[in-house]
Amino acid sequence: MIATGSRPRVIPGFEFDGEKVLSSTDVLMLESLPKKIIILGAGAIGMEFAYILSSFGVEVHIAELLDRVLPMEDADVSDVVSRTFRRRKIKISTGVRAVNLEKTKNNIKVKLEAKDGTFTTDEACKIVVSAGRSPNTEGIGLENVGIKTEKGFIPVGDYYQTALQGIYAIGDVINTPLLAHVASKEAEIAAAHMAGRATIKQIEPSYIPSAVYCEPQVGSFGPTEEAATQAGIKFNKAVFNYKGAGKAVAIEEIDGFVKVLYAPDTKEILAAHVVGAEATEIIHEILLAKTAELLPEDVAEMIHAHPTLSEAAMEAMKIAEGR
Ligand SMILES: Cc1cc2nc3c(=O)[nH]c(=O)nc-3n(C[C@H](O)[C@H](O)[C@H](O)COP(=O)(O)OP(=O)(O)OC[C@H]3O[C@@H](n4cnc5c(N)ncnc54)[C@H](O)[C@@H]3O)c2cc1C
Repeated sequence: MIATGSRPRVIPGFEFDGEKVLSSTDVLMLESLPKKIIILGAGAIGMEFAYILSSFGVEVHIAELLDRVLPMEDADVSDVVSRTFRRRKIKISTGVRAVNLEKTKNNIKVKLEAKDGTFTTDEACKIVVSAGRSPNTEGIGLENVGIKTEKGFIPVGDYYQTALQGIYAIGDVINTPLLAHVASKEAEIAAAHMAGRATIKQIEPSYIPSAVYCEPQVGSFGPTEEAATQAGIKFNKAVFNYKGAGKAVAIEEIDGFVKVLYAPDTKEILAAHVVGAEATEIIHEILLAKTAELLPEDVAEMIHAHPTLSEAAMEAMKIAEGR
């Protein structure tokens, strides 16, 4: 089983030096806090570090090529997170491409190009480049056994077996979401198949939860509204705002919502996008409902303890039921 993982992607011109140009691994090794840091890339890792460093009092500027932070998440989720970050005085620039770096004696300057072709420059003690990951598939002898990678990833079929019988690949080296729980589940399936035990063939992508550990947290599974529309999937949505949940008011965490996408005819739960306190926990109740093929009415009818944040999931399901 090949499970050599991935490493931070290097962008030409922005090579890591471990001093001023940091990878996500380098940030974890910092022994003192910089006064200011610029983070390139507002995906999950970039946003988590922006939140952590700003909580420690570091001045943070996060810059993203696409037009919003957490571009893989629901657009309304991105709005809530960026609003909260701005309140924390984290500077956010979206729709900007980092085009150049200049190291000065103590600092580092980054030149950013906006979509309209205008340039701005910002300066900080360090920058973090969090612009994706590259699979570790070179130098492990794949060519000796005739396995050809696709965009660096190892192609696999059912049970995460490569084209060669008896050789499996799981986790960040294959083209599935680069998440720890995905790697673990893939490994379980591959190992079960190796041992001749009954198992599913592959993970179904719309059942994979994703979690972002900034504040507010993000938990989601299934397509975003944008992705569902692009794929021609018909859906209705039900949204319940945290401020309607007593627990959220009590703990002063009213920024957030539970959004559920469901099929207009069968009411099948298609996706959920949760932003706010404990979103990474709340998502599982809705995913369990989907996995057990329950309908919004089942969750709406189940008694939820009061006051809990989970009531927001129940209330969203009541909205889906037209209540
Ligand atoms: C900063 C950061 C935060 C993250 N946060 C989350 C999160 O909150 N939740 C989540 O689900 N995922 C998160 N991830 C992603 C998660 O870490 C990966 O998806 C997961 O670790 C992939 O598991 P893996 O087994 O494929 O690879 P890895 O966990 O990377 O393990 C690969 C191992 O193989 C070893 N190795 C490499 N080459 C060789 C070789 N030639 N021979 C032998 N051994 C080798 C490596 O040293 C490593 O120990 C995060 C990633 C980063 C970088």
